[in-house]
Amino acid sequence: MPIQIVHSIQDLHHARAQLSGRVALVPTMGALHEGHATLIRLAREHADHVIATVFVNPTQFGPHEDFDAYPRTLDHDAALCEAAGASLLFNPSAAQIYPAGFATSISVPSLTRRLCGPHRPGHFEGVATIVTKLLHLTHPHIAIFGQKDYQQLAVIRRVTNDLHLGVEILGAPTIREADGLAMSSRNRYLTPSQRQAAVGLSRALAHGWAAWQAGERRAEAIEQLGLKLVSSLPDSRVDYVEVVHPDSLDALVPDQGAVMALAVRLGQARLIDNLRLDDALPAQLSAHL
Ligand code: AMP
Repeated sequence: MPIQIVHSIQDLHHARAQLSGRVALVPTMGALHEGHATLIRLAREHADHVIATVFVNPTQFGPHEDFDAYPRTLDHDAALCEAAGASLLFNPSAAQIYPAGFATSISVPSLTRRLCGPHRPGHFEGVATIVTKLLHLTHPHIAIFGQKDYQQLAVIRRVTNDLHLGVEILGAPTIREADGLAMSSRNRYLTPSQRQAAVGLSRALAHGWAAWQAGERRAEAIEQLGLKLVSSLPDSRVDYVEVVHPDSLDALVPDQGAVMALAVRLGQARLIDNLRLDDALPAQLSAHL
């Protein structure tokens, strides 16, 4: 079936009413890649219909971030969504989503005090609010998000529980390039030499994992190890390397696992990645040990 593309909320309501059975939502900002395709295919396994959304959400970008430069590739995105099995693509304008007078914001302070939170003020409020709106607009049974954006996934889980949104949230594993780099729409900002340097993020995560597996339980020791590997990369500026509790995103608790997360700027690109240190190591990362 060819994918149906709608741009207005009115058309979305009409198209949604035609979808019978279980519906899954996959929200995106477009510039879609194999990571997004995997999310849509996974969504299709859990539902009769998949609604994908492409919306570069202005409220989750800071004033000096890449909102204007963010790649917009709607024709490519629609073809990818269709090939991956989506039935409906919602691509609204900012004016539709944020009409004059819009003033509501959803925040989850306890989950946004660390990691990306302090580096991107207002970002997670923007994410929590747009995702809540998209869930209301599409009323899916299930919504799929990538573990690549680990803190975002934690915030969305919290919001949907706290607000009784009645939707199942599924986290999907990070899809990586052969050398371990997590696929991202922002990877296209990398010059060839920065692309080579970007493998340093994978190396840092792999070594953090190895330290944990060898019995290291001091977050700071693992953070220092990772920091040494990423701060020496050419053209790099490290936002953070942190090891936190996998649910609270705060201090580690004995025997409750850990997630190592990092954000590194390489030239114009701000790359993020993370790894559960108490899980199996993805194959593309094991090559770095
Ligand atoms: P974005 O368009 O970057 O905002 O991402 C839309 C959704 O795709 C989010 O749930 C992301 O976590 C997810 N995603 C992005 N990159 C990847 C990846 N490499 N692997 C798995 N999921 C991803």
